[in-house]
Amino acid sequence: MVRNIDLISSCPNCNRKHSESNKSKISLISSKGKYSTVHIICGSCKVPMLVLISKGPVGLVSLGMMVDLDENETKTFISETPVSVDEVIEVHKALKLNKFNEQPKYSQSKEKIQGPKAK
Ligand SMILES: [Zn+2]
Repeated sequence: MVRNIDLISSCPNCNRKHSESNKSKISLISSKGKYSTVHIICGSCKVPMLVLISKGPVGLVSLGMMVDLDENETKTFISETPVSVDEVIEVHKALKLNKFNEQPKYSQSKEKIQGPKAK
């Protein structure tokens, strides 16, 4: 299911296409409900990134972030962290909305950070 997603097919750092020919390494870390987590190491710039893919009402949505973890560290991180993918996405939204200066309550109250006006 992961292979046809254009959004993760190029590197956000160097903008090169991820492909087998440039030895990009793409690993599915976890797939849970409508969320999948994919770890990618760019074959061109070697920057590792974590991509969260969510199946939403408008189709597949992905968000990528550069990480300093290899595939196994990512798996450990994902399995050990109490933060769910939902919360990561909420945090990402909060970052976009510039609300991150507020109290760090996102782990307890997702509504707080999204706010009633977010829709
Ligand atoms: Zn790259």
